[in-house]
Amino acid sequence: MTDQNKGSNSSYSGFLIDYACDDTRSRGRRHDESHPTYRNEYQRDRDRIIHSAAFRRLEYKTQVFVNHEGDLFRTRLTHSLEVAQIARSIARELRLHEDLTEAIALAHDLGHTPFGHAGQTALNRCMKDFGGFEHNIQSLRVVDKLEQKYADFDGLNLSFETREGILKHCALNNAKKLGDVGQRFIDSTQPSLEAQLTDYSDETAYNNHDIDDGIRYGLITIDDLLKIRLFRTQYDIVDKKYPGLDDKKLIHEIIRRMINVMVVDLIDTSRENINDARLKSIEDVRNHGQRLMAFSDSMIEEKLELKQFLRKNLYQHYRVHRMSKKAADVIESLFNAFMNDTNILPTEAIGHCHKLRDKHGDIGIARGISDYIAGMTDRYAIVEYERIFNPRQLSFVNLHP
Ligand code: MG
Repeated sequence: MTDQNKGSNSSYSGFLIDYACDDTRSRGRRHDESHPTYRNEYQRDRDRIIHSAAFRRLEYKTQVFVNHEGDLFRTRLTHSLEVAQIARSIARELRLHEDLTEAIALAHDLGHTPFGHAGQTALNRCMKDFGGFEHNIQSLRVVDKLEQKYADFDGLNLSFETREGILKHCALNNAKKLGDVGQRFIDSTQPSLEAQLTDYSDETAYNNHDIDDGIRYGLITIDDLLKIRLFRTQYDIVDKKYPGLDDKKLIHEIIRRMINVMVVDLIDTSRENINDARLKSIEDVRNHGQRLMAFSDSMIEEKLELKQFLRKNLYQHYRVHRMSKKAADVIESLFNAFMNDTNILPTEAIGHCHKLRDKHGDIGIARGISDYIAGMTDRYAIVEYERIFNPRQLSFVNLHP
């Protein structure tokens, strides 16, 4: 690409380290397009993601706590913004492509169902005879196929490097169907450093914001958390500097330090790995035996302790289980109702299912229903459930959205 772009302000080439993803040497898009004016290719990707319908819907999708349970909890949207913030800081310090990491971060959860992991597990169960449901693959499906905005193509037609970063994990049998972005799972090669660091930024964001939300929700307490080394170390520092600080400020002062400690550890450890590997190009990154972005061994150990704590005390708390059980019932009931009678699907969704049936038979119908359900926000799924199953809504007005 790119004679046009070379040397222009829209390119980052001068700033980037040799083994970064360079927007002027992208592997390109699925459908050829002319280059953007005054933006680089990854800025265009990021901008298309922000203007997508799937991105707007993240505002009303659960991260851990159901969206309407409180206005202060993280949603998929605020989570994605926090991931982008962390990823951009790391990318800039390592002279990697900040715009690319931002695009990957903002798109990484686009394929999530309503109701967080409970929703995804339920939809995967519904789809078990029809190819299953994986949220990473669904995110890719959203940007490659499901967004309908551009005259020349389906999807957002993002660059290879952004799509590669979105597909964080993938089962081998699915990788074979995904073409260029699936290939690395077959070859056991690595994704770009930008993709690697965004993956770790995701984990850093949720490990920390789930503590904050968990305390706010009353499921965990500061006293419980003092058993966790990562938390305790920062608690002691804050408590010494600001004795008697009120809980709200105390928690924030601890969490911001925890994020910082993790980010600094990731940058320092990765920089050492990168130096040892004597990288010259992005190909060296891809062909390296293992991921070069990494936390130190001691941080991995401390993170594990925190994760196990969160799993036991937060994700497996009975109040979260109750929510998850109800959410799974909503998803499964909707799926079964649509499978039993596709005539109750809204016009656009049935059109989508018919198109997929023409190509793939009955499996296509199931995939179309899965796309429709995965695209729902929490509240839309609940409203749709009410419309279909609540006999009190048996009136013409309520049956129509
Ligand atoms: Mg995430």
